[in-house]
Amino acid sequence: MPLTLRRGRNLRPFRRRKAALLASAVSVCLLAAAAPAEPLGVGDRLFPTLGNPGYDVASYDLSFTYSGKNDKPLRAVTTIDAWTTTGLDRLNLDFAHGTVESVEVDGRPAAFAGAGEDLVITPDRPLPRGSWTRITVKHTSDPVSAKGRDGGWVRTTDGLAMANQADAAHLVFPCNDHPSDKAMFTIRVTAPNEYTAVANGLPTGAERVGPATTWTYRTQHPMATELAQVSVGRSAVVRRKGPHGLPVRDVVPSADRKALEPWLAKTPDQIAWLESKVGSYPFETYGLLMAQASTGFELETQTLSLFEKDIFTKPGYPAWYVDSIMVHELSHQWFGDSVSPRTWSDAWLNEGHATWYESLYAQEKSKRPMVDRMKAAYGASDRWRADGGPPARPKPPAPGQKISIFRPNIYDGAALVLYALRQEIGTRAFERLERDWVREHRDSTATTAEFVRLASSVAGRDLTGFLQPWLYGEKTPPMPGHPDWKSDRSAKESKRDKRGKKGGPGWE
Ligand SMILES: [Zn+2]
Repeated sequence: MPLTLRRGRNLRPFRRRKAALLASAVSVCLLAAAAPAEPLGVGDRLFPTLGNPGYDVASYDLSFTYSGKNDKPLRAVTTIDAWTTTGLDRLNLDFAHGTVESVEVDGRPAAFAGAGEDLVITPDRPLPRGSWTRITVKHTSDPVSAKGRDGGWVRTTDGLAMANQADAAHLVFPCNDHPSDKAMFTIRVTAPNEYTAVANGLPTGAERVGPATTWTYRTQHPMATELAQVSVGRSAVVRRKGPHGLPVRDVVPSADRKALEPWLAKTPDQIAWLESKVGSYPFETYGLLMAQASTGFELETQTLSLFEKDIFTKPGYPAWYVDSIMVHELSHQWFGDSVSPRTWSDAWLNEGHATWYESLYAQEKSKRPMVDRMKAAYGASDRWRADGGPPARPKPPAPGQKISIFRPNIYDGAALVLYALRQEIGTRAFERLERDWVREHRDSTATTAEFVRLASSVAGRDLTGFLQPWLYGEKTPPMPGHPDWKSDRSAKESKRDKRGKKGGPGWE
């Protein structure tokens, strides 16, 4: 919510416009009428038009009405309470996949137009800097995928779920769709009585009127739009207690409840294990949403992680592997959700840490040594950097493919950076850093530079020179304590060189 975000260049025209606004009330209307609607962004190098300058959202109130058919648009009302950080004669929201019926600003009808993936709103009077404003948008929310776009609603065999990471929340509802602007959420879903709706946070009520029930959920912590979750399905909600009485609730297809119970029963111990590593669980509840859909990924939606049901019920995945995926999504609740990336280039802080705890869990519980995985990662790291960029400066996504920034360079490639850091500063300092990191940035956002600063402070020496090439270098630096570790690429190159010199036959 409170932003210290460095705004992009887009902020300046607003400032200039505001100065003009103060000069004359008449020119306000002329300016607003004359300026063409244009998409804006907050200057994220990977997603230039995500987010919008000039305001911070404090809260979203999302209302969806589900008909029972998941190929039909939902009726929706999105109400946003925001604080203006500059004077605004108009304001952009991200919204790209639905029909807007009406917009009100502070209770008065406002003009609106689409521009790129933005909804550009012109209030009937300019909004002064440093004031609260309430924007209400009546719209539809279309669960049928936008052409050429991944994400947003996920259609399951019995309803809907949501997967908005990284840039797809605005395919579902109008928002400031950037993790730097976290906000509180109230989510209401009205659905036919035979369905169960669950969303992030805790329930505040379910009201049955005739053939439909309205379910309401509210978050107790700020959340990024990319982490919103709404499940509608023929589901059972399974409740149990986690550590310190934490309410744990899983959402599973009613018919599979019994078969899934052995997996669900693992969550409290996994939470306790992670708490022993990094400190107390950061939210009001946790649980697994097991969706009947093939997404090809699992997702750490806040307080309710999304999983494909099949990874638990179909043979083929070893138990230790499924356990480690559960721990991966769970650890994101600390790394990625409670502490969100300030920009998408900081996503290695999410995935590197989630991969780290996934691997540490496999080491401690299933005797799969982390050092083996890290040695293999070291071998591949130069190739990953060439393909996807260094961990903290990933290459941009391919057009329309939001998940294409999620490459090995920010998973095992980033866990390898953490491994190098632990080798360099020692296990005790590293463990303290991890605890301090999630405590200091809890319910907020953080940058790579802040991680380097905290690591330096915990280690008692400046680690910039050490971490810079690990985070931003084209080549993987030597691994402290493992001078024998080699990149596969350089190993291959040197073998090829030798072969070339000998002029002998290929060895593969
Ligand atoms: Zn992850």
